[in-house]
Amino acid sequence: MVLNSSFRYVGGALQVDDFALEAIASEVGTPVYVYSLRRVLGNYRRLRRAFAPLSAQLHYSVKANGNAAIVEALAKQGSGFDCVSGGEIRQALAAGGAARQIVFAGVGKTRAEIEYAVERGVGWLNVENALELEYIQAAAERTGAESVLVALRLNPEVTAKTHPKIATGHGGAKFGMTAAVIHALLAKRNAYPRINFAGIHIHIGSQLGDSQATIRAVEKALELARPYPQIRAINLGGGLPVAYQFAESPPPVDELVQALSSRLGEYRVLLEPGRAIVADAGALLAEVLYVKRQAGQVFYIVDAGMTDLLRPALYDAHHEVLPLRKASSRGEVAQLVGPVCESTDVLARDRLLPPLQVGDKIALMTAGAYGMAMASNYNARPLPAEVLVDAAGAGWRASRSRNLLPEK
Ligand SMILES: *Cc1c(COP(=O)(O)O)cnc(C)c1O
Repeated sequence: MVLNSSFRYVGGALQVDDFALEAIASEVGTPVYVYSLRRVLGNYRRLRRAFAPLSAQLHYSVKANGNAAIVEALAKQGSGFDCVSGGEIRQALAAGGAARQIVFAGVGKTRAEIEYAVERGVGWLNVENALELEYIQAAAERTGAESVLVALRLNPEVTAKTHPKIATGHGGAKFGMTAAVIHALLAKRNAYPRINFAGIHIHIGSQLGDSQATIRAVEKALELARPYPQIRAINLGGGLPVAYQFAESPPPVDELVQALSSRLGEYRVLLEPGRAIVADAGALLAEVLYVKRQAGQVFYIVDAGMTDLLRPALYDAHHEVLPLRKASSRGEVAQLVGPVCESTDVLARDRLLPPLQVGDKIALMTAGAYGMAMASNYNARPLPAEVLVDAAGAGWRASRSRNLLPEK
């Protein structure tokens, strides 16, 4: 599924909730990200229901999309947050997130970030290095925190069936620690009197199409945790897949939950979904600037590029391309490219695209996750604008405009 209850055609016009995207694009200008808050919250509630049998606590992964209104709306729903930097902890707190419900992960946390997290009373620190424990212990002593919850991040040495550039749980990855390293750390746990070693964390990658790999990773986590009664929580990480192509249907979450519920038993379960909450709640709108036909190729040159949506250039990601006004004729195979001076600035390669002319507007679908979050000012391009349709679907507003860099 790529079109959904929030993004759909009505009378030939592509809409977000009750608004024509064409009108939004004309008013705000392109490139612009458009998000449906109704869809974001719908996805959040769907996941919460699906994981109810595990009594899982959801921690939205802020790095997928840090839009303040989105983070704020999720905080109001009682969502926790998964943060991978001090900056993201600030974002979560600024949006009204409870510090106790934040988990702080990351392979390269600075000492200052760790101190900040302990000082603010962040709920869990997901640790992937022995030295982090020294920093946490010292920060706890300094701030008077008596018991900091730590989940040790296991690298389960499981190869997930996903794009190699978003796999994190195989043996050669920089992420997590092997079971042997974790056992050695736990043997020395008394050296850290202010740390409560209460959890094991796994996150084996993103866009995980194969639940078997997740189940194997969970089994390894359980096997690791079993000898230690103080370990009461398993953090399953994120990685729930979404459909990026019309033909795709990711495995149903219910099956995964069922398989896990018999295994996880008494453990407290944490989850860190990012993509599954925001991806299909957002689209990137762009306008065709030029059509170039040469050497047997057709190039549609649009005003959005890799600086706005990096995923195709970074990991060969596929985003469906839809015209904002439904085409009546079949198009042709073409390249949809951006204006950036890089050969990899291709948004859709050798794709059957709708017939497009200069001035036509298109939507790159399922762009709500890792879209704006990865946008850059490369080529001194302004960041794309952002528009948010409210949860009632009753109104929309620009939450960010495109800022040109100042001349001086
Ligand atoms: C990126 C990340 C997530 C979120 O992954 P999604 O695929 O967006 O669900 C969760 N946990 C950690 C530790 C991450 O780095």
